[in-house]
Amino acid sequence: MKILAITNQKGGVGKTTTCVNLAASLVSLGKRVLLIDLDPQGNASTGSGVDKAHLKHSIYHVLIGEKSLKEVILNSEAGGFDIAPSNRELAGAEVELVNELARENRLKVAIANLGNAYDFILLDCPPALNLVTVNALTAANSVMIPMQCEYYALEGLSDLVNTIKKVRAHLNPVLEIEGLLRTLFDNRNMLANQVSTQLKSHFGDKVYKTVIPRNIRLAEAPSYGVPVLNYDKSSKGAVAYIELAQEIINKENLTKT
Ligand code: ATP
Ligand code: MG
Repeated sequence: MKILAITNQKGGVGKTTTCVNLAASLVSLGKRVLLIDLDPQGNASTGSGVDKAHLKHSIYHVLIGEKSLKEVILNSEAGGFDIAPSNRELAGAEVELVNELARENRLKVAIANLGNAYDFILLDCPPALNLVTVNALTAANSVMIPMQCEYYALEGLSDLVNTIKKVRAHLNPVLEIEGLLRTLFDNRNMLANQVSTQLKSHFGDKVYKTVIPRNIRLAEAPSYGVPVLNYDKSSKGAVAYIELAQEIINKENLTKT
């Protein structure tokens, strides 16, 4: 079972788009997938066709210890994956957990209780290096960092890498950076190409070969509550996420053998 935290404290870099579409793409390649929405914005829930305003229970109840993961998991009919949804309530978790014991471990324990029901668990993180993100990094085996290839992209990266190092030292020794994903990529933009080259020279193999292009279909699909595969499966965005899913599966198979 692979637990992948999809994180970047920078907002709007394509974390949620990647979670929803990677989840659906992995399913289309025969994998069992759970998506955990860890953002009070609940965009991954909406994008998977879940009505976040009328949730009985959400990931919030799991983190504060009132429910098990199993009790909050729903099925995304459109995506074919399971989802632990989220909504604004989650914003309160941060404060409520302040005085709790083992607060960084809540998600890890909840996932352990699931057993081996999934091949992949994707964690959609909020745009912050907060306690919820630390829970994700503590529960994960590896991290995917989506980033836009723009001038400031590398600036926040060192804060994120430092947080990952701290979590590795104190909470989760097996945590590794699986890869940097170039998102919202515009081929015709010279700066984007320069930053992309820079990323590859700094991070080498850690940069996924697959590049996610800027594609309007990816932005439109969430308003129908479906992954892009269900909306326009021949779009460039859909093709790119299938390619990413395949790249990740190949990587997994390599490390297993
Ligand atoms: P946040 O930090 O707020 O959680 P995020 O990192 O999860 O944001 P998304 O919500 O996935 O980012 O994407 C931000 C916006 O860009 C959304 O409106 C989304 O539809 C759009 N978007 C994401 N990826 C692409 C893409 N490859 N092509 C076109 N639009 C995209
Ligand atoms: Mg998001």
